[in-house]
Amino acid sequence: MRRISYLLLSGLIMLTQFAQAQTKTYSILIKGGHVIDARNNINEIMDVAIQSGKIAAVAKNIDASLASQIVDAKGMYVTPGLIDLHAHLFAGTDDRGLSGGFSALAPDPYTLRAGVTTVVDCGGAGWASFDKFKSTIIDKSRTRVLSFLNIVGDGMRGDPYEQDISDMDAKKTAEKALANKDIVVGFKLAHFAAASWVPVEKVVAAGKLADMPVIIDFGAGKLPIEDLFFKYLRPGDIFTHVYTELEIRDPVVDLKTRKLRPFLIPAQKRGIIFDVGFGGGSFNFNQAIPAIKAGFLPNTMGTDLHTGSMNGAMKDQLNVLSIFLSMGMDIPSVISRSTWAPAQAIKREELGHLSVGAGADVAILSVRDGKFGFRDIAGNRNEGKQKFECEMTLRAGRIVYDLNAIASNPEKSR
Ligand SMILES: [Zn+2]
Repeated sequence: MRRISYLLLSGLIMLTQFAQAQTKTYSILIKGGHVIDARNNINEIMDVAIQSGKIAAVAKNIDASLASQIVDAKGMYVTPGLIDLHAHLFAGTDDRGLSGGFSALAPDPYTLRAGVTTVVDCGGAGWASFDKFKSTIIDKSRTRVLSFLNIVGDGMRGDPYEQDISDMDAKKTAEKALANKDIVVGFKLAHFAAASWVPVEKVVAAGKLADMPVIIDFGAGKLPIEDLFFKYLRPGDIFTHVYTELEIRDPVVDLKTRKLRPFLIPAQKRGIIFDVGFGGGSFNFNQAIPAIKAGFLPNTMGTDLHTGSMNGAMKDQLNVLSIFLSMGMDIPSVISRSTWAPAQAIKREELGHLSVGAGADVAILSVRDGKFGFRDIAGNRNEGKQKFECEMTLRAGRIVYDLNAIASNPEKSR
């Protein structure tokens, strides 16, 4: 009898200890937010629990006592960490433009406060300068930094370097990409000024060798974009600066009729991915508004972040999303184009969603109601009623930005 009591007692003690160890199942619990996760078709109020840097549960009414830290997201949107597939991050102090120069920006001060947890440098480095980019920026950033490697070996160094076809080596570029597959997601062609298809052929050759997409900033050659989409690019290749209206580039909306040109929607159906790439000179309402009205929406919301865009009309990724709200797109549409769509475009399908087991990169966003003005690069103004604001950003399960102190630790609270 005594032995049975002892066994029962020790069993109870073990159970209690087990229960105590289990009380904090989650490191962080995000409560009451409106979750938008395009990959998992979630668009409703859910709790999101995190443990060991990963998403541990997404469900209604998860018990708050199971978490060490609670984030009150009532009235806010909870989304996968945003992915910006077009930015310029190879910052440096040399006179090298967007390739280790002063025009590029180191990511963390600009990304995390805008909900961006993954950012792709869009051609700053070429095969010859990639190692320096990796050691000075990629390895030192908390933001996940990936790379579209420039087809120009010396990268986006400005002219005359970017006009030098002899420095466009598809084989060396593809080899560098394959040796750094964890970081390089594709290849960039930009700023080429002459009317020649050779640079396009070279970058697509690198894409074929490495089985990776290319992203094209179609330069000043005034070559027909219809040929680019149907004769040169492959499905899955990306065309950035889609809504630009510059003298030097064939536009998507006809300048005389102000109608969307007829081959754009077929090109998108063919699998060409159209990226905003707002930048300092590449977004015009005169193109975007008629295009969107005609059903030609961007696939991805790249910002083209650099010193020339961040204090201009572009500002940051959330401002770009707010601009698309002002043109009639809805919140789930702009979020999916900044999360799951770019993850698929760069073939990183482990990113851009909140599936259980995925890395806990999360953005928590408020949408302010009011009267807001937005500009394009030509100085035109569009008015909107909603504006995104980043409340919190989590990167790999850690809070890296918390605007209004919405995280609390119940055991430490006064
Ligand atoms: Zn760019």
